[in-house]
Amino acid sequence: MPKQKDHDPAKRPRRLHLVLGDQLDPQSAALADLDPDRDAVWMAETHAEATHVWCHKLRLIVFFSAMRHFRDELTDKGITVHYHELTTAPSKDRGKDFAEVLIKDAKKLKPQSLVVTQPGDFRVDDMLEQAADELDLELDVRDDEHFFNTPDQFAEWADGKKDLVQEMFYRRMRKRDHILLTKDGKPVGGDWNYDADNRETFGKSGPPSIRKRPHNFRPDDTTKNVIDMIEKRFADHPGNTNHFDYPVTRAEALTYLRDFVEHRLADFGPYEDAMWTDAPFLYHSRLSQALNMKLLNPRECIEKAIDAYENNNAPLQSVEGFVRQLIGWREFIRGVYFHQGRGYLKRNALGNDPDADVPSFYWDGDTDMACVKDVMQSVINHAWAHHIPRLMVTGLLATLLGVHPRKFHDWHMAMYVDAIDWASAPNTIGMASYGDGGVVGTKPYAASGNYINKMSNYCKNCRYHPKHATGDTACPFTTLYWDFLDRHRDAFKSNARMAFQVKNIDRKRQTGEIKQIRKQAKQLKQHMLGKANASA
Ligand code: SF4
Repeated sequence: MPKQKDHDPAKRPRRLHLVLGDQLDPQSAALADLDPDRDAVWMAETHAEATHVWCHKLRLIVFFSAMRHFRDELTDKGITVHYHELTTAPSKDRGKDFAEVLIKDAKKLKPQSLVVTQPGDFRVDDMLEQAADELDLELDVRDDEHFFNTPDQFAEWADGKKDLVQEMFYRRMRKRDHILLTKDGKPVGGDWNYDADNRETFGKSGPPSIRKRPHNFRPDDTTKNVIDMIEKRFADHPGNTNHFDYPVTRAEALTYLRDFVEHRLADFGPYEDAMWTDAPFLYHSRLSQALNMKLLNPRECIEKAIDAYENNNAPLQSVEGFVRQLIGWREFIRGVYFHQGRGYLKRNALGNDPDADVPSFYWDGDTDMACVKDVMQSVINHAWAHHIPRLMVTGLLATLLGVHPRKFHDWHMAMYVDAIDWASAPNTIGMASYGDGGVVGTKPYAASGNYINKMSNYCKNCRYHPKHATGDTACPFTTLYWDFLDRHRDAFKSNARMAFQVKNIDRKRQTGEIKQIRKQAKQLKQHMLGKANASA
């Protein structure tokens, strides 16, 4: 049937369906009722998205390449896609941010309304609302069905609770959606959580040979074009692009999932907290990028993991740990993000200096701390590190130094390939920095170099000693740990979970040992923070 001229989506779409870079799912709510004969899709790469934080080149490549592949998939299905590509010439941009480009395009296309799946970033949400207001168009914001909960469902659970405890939320999810439950509603295996079994470390010989991730995703022409553009236009951005191996299509993401379940899931649980020099991936899935861009659905990941358990290909402790990451932590932190609202990004419960930024080695890895150097190598090469280096190396050091939570958040958003605001903010401002004063974690994740020594081989190759708090060989983590407890002793004294640490710092105060620690910590902070601020 010939298309009616008024409804030719290439000329005047009825509805313009907006697809953001982290919404690459053809089944998404925004695309559910798209009629290719009457509606069109709108997507845009914008300079503002690439620069609102000093984005890692690999992160830009993965997003823009996956978006261009998604555009081509939709186009192949006969859907009209109005797509704004960044080029090496900034003068050719249609605008600097989503709002500007959308307003220009919508004025030309004259749709009757705009549709979008709920953005996972308040900043983007605000921009789209502003654009719709200026265009005087209805913006139909639909719940993101990729997740197991809507923000309202989370609020229903959270409202009235004194503390939001992830474990309680997780158990409720298991029960509500009947995941890893017996027929009579009990947890499979008898326990809800096998975390206590999942803190193995490697012996002196280190991890055994681990099958590498599939490296058959060599950049195709689309990705090569994006790499070329990024290397030219954003040449001064951090990160290395030589190690590109991320999935940028759903088919590739499914291959990554299958490879993880077959080759690494079994050992994921026991070693999920372990770290080892030059082995950034270990048994981790590294699926967070594909999940957060919606190339994968968490339900299919859970299904495949449970299949592996039921077919005796992976033990319960690994499968339960993986499931907990997806329906426990992932859903919980997204719920916290929307429940806490826009003000969450400004939280600074410990009163850190607003100008205290991450040290310069958070961008280039130039440090003599063996642990930080190794983690930063992974971040620079892969825009990725697993949850323990994120929380207990880079997150811990930033917290002990007194980096402002928002500055740490911005760094995290810039450097990790899987960082989306909803996923990052509760991890950075909440869990790592304790900037939210205890919403995500009931106590700060404060530890000395001893924790890193226990979970890795880093300290054996380091010029510092994890037990030394003062002197030339003092581990910066250990010095700063005592200094952190000393500075915040009064804030923590009534927290029952901090009682042991408060007692220890009181002992250091009584013996006078704290004086030398304070002096050394001050020098460290001046050296690390001063350097960062000087280069900012
Ligand atoms: Fe890191 Fe301290 Fe261990 Fe060195 S001694 S690797 S700085 S924890």
